[in-house]
Amino acid sequence: MKDEIALNMMAVQQRIMETCTRCGRDSNAVRMIAVTKTVSAEIVRVAIQAGAVLFGENYIQEAREKCGMLAKYPVSWHFIGHLQTNKAKYAVKLFDLIHTVDSLRLATELDREARKIGKVQKILIQVNIGKEASKSGIDAESTEMLIRSLAAFPNLSVRGLMVIPPFFDEPERVRPHFRGLRELRDSLNKSGIAGVSLDELSMGMTGDFEAAIEEGATMVRIGTAIFGERQ
Ligand SMILES: *Cc1c(COP(=O)(O)O)cnc(C)c1O
Repeated sequence: MKDEIALNMMAVQQRIMETCTRCGRDSNAVRMIAVTKTVSAEIVRVAIQAGAVLFGENYIQEAREKCGMLAKYPVSWHFIGHLQTNKAKYAVKLFDLIHTVDSLRLATELDREARKIGKVQKILIQVNIGKEASKSGIDAESTEMLIRSLAAFPNLSVRGLMVIPPFFDEPERVRPHFRGLRELRDSLNKSGIAGVSLDELSMGMTGDFEAAIEEGATMVRIGTAIFGERQ
């Protein structure tokens, strides 16, 4: 198990580097987030020992337990699941980056809870690029307005955009969603929102991360290719 996880991580890193070389990007500009939902703290420790430094969790309760058990390791935890407003207080304590902010209501609560603990919480805005299937994520057309409102929040820092496209077996069918997110990010940066620089694009998972990198991903979220199929 131990060797397998280390080998899997190396294989993913290798594919990230090869993809970057192919499309002329610097591989340091793409970070791998090891997605650990349903993965035990013991296995996460194995991944840490194999060199993983960034982890993504989907559920607050599960993350609280795991982060507690692994508190001594200098790794960074990101939240990538759907965040309920009433869990904001836990989220700001646990996570360096919250990828899934998609409403003013949630952002307001995160700002408030971050202020209580004296933190500036980094966030990404989750966008529903295709407007299909998934119910989470804000529409592309409403994104600018949301980010403009958030620019005034002292305890939030918007760093970029995130997308969870609908599931397709074929990465090429997902590509338009990745491209759409990058184009939206570029156009928002061009229109210029005071105090906001959208550098990050969180997109791409096990089945499609190479297409995501080709379209500009700065963070890919990888579970299955590292830890195997989830139960
Ligand atoms: C589970 C999950 C992932 C990882 O998916 P894999 O296909 O296992 O790599 C990435 N992003 C989000 C938001 C997830 O929920």
